[in-house]
Amino acid sequence: MSEITERILGYVESHKLAPNAPCSCESGKVFGDCCGSTAPDRAPPCGIHIQPNIVPDSYCHQLLTYARKQPKRWLSIVRPQAGSQQLSKKQDEDRVAREVKLGKWRPKVLKTVESNFRDLIREKFDQTLLWFEEPNLLFYSAGGFYAPHADSHAYFAGQGIWQKAMDRDYSMLFYLNDDYEGGHVNFMMFNYRYKPKKGDLILFPSDHRYVHTAEPVTRGNRFAIVSWAAVSESRKVKLRPPPEAHMVEKPGFICTSHSG
Ligand SMILES: [Zn+2]
Repeated sequence: MSEITERILGYVESHKLAPNAPCSCESGKVFGDCCGSTAPDRAPPCGIHIQPNIVPDSYCHQLLTYARKQPKRWLSIVRPQAGSQQLSKKQDEDRVAREVKLGKWRPKVLKTVESNFRDLIREKFDQTLLWFEEPNLLFYSAGGFYAPHADSHAYFAGQGIWQKAMDRDYSMLFYLNDDYEGGHVNFMMFNYRYKPKKGDLILFPSDHRYVHTAEPVTRGNRFAIVSWAAVSESRKVKLRPPPEAHMVEKPGFICTSHSG
């Protein structure tokens, strides 16, 4: 485990609400009976939306058949703390996962990602999709995992603070299979462990409240599509959308008189 992972775990430990504290969602209930419940049949915490059967069986099956035959490339973590975006050919200490090129499936996946982002962000959060990032088809074989992290915020352990480092407001994954063991998604601040089902879609805010880990796959292979969206309502930390962003609405904040 890397030092940053240890520090994030320390943060979760010291900042998770006590079971008898008022819940952060302002429901009036205590955390332990609401977003922080440890009951096995609990509902997702406030902000996390799971839509079952979003992706039809035939879509999952055909994309899986394609993906199993494709070459895989190791992924590493984008670490804003380090000031660089590394891509690597070998395994990262905090992330053991590979990516499969979408190839001929790309147009169909882009359509699925865009329409679900657009509709769900509007319906669940009353916000407007501005762009989404190029979707990744993720491949976790046995032993694959992703250590605790937040999708948009970086943890600066020295100061003990999280800072928005990437212009991501919502994260979305959909799952192509469930015939593997392990591989739960654990939203640690909420005591919420979720085992994806084939065809499920999950949408959640990308910030540090939703720090999560992809627990190790212990048997079989896990395939999922992931993308991240920015909405027009949010504060941005960069002057421009990420280079591979798919624009949906025209952004108002971009500075066009400077380059770089
Ligand atoms: Zn709550």
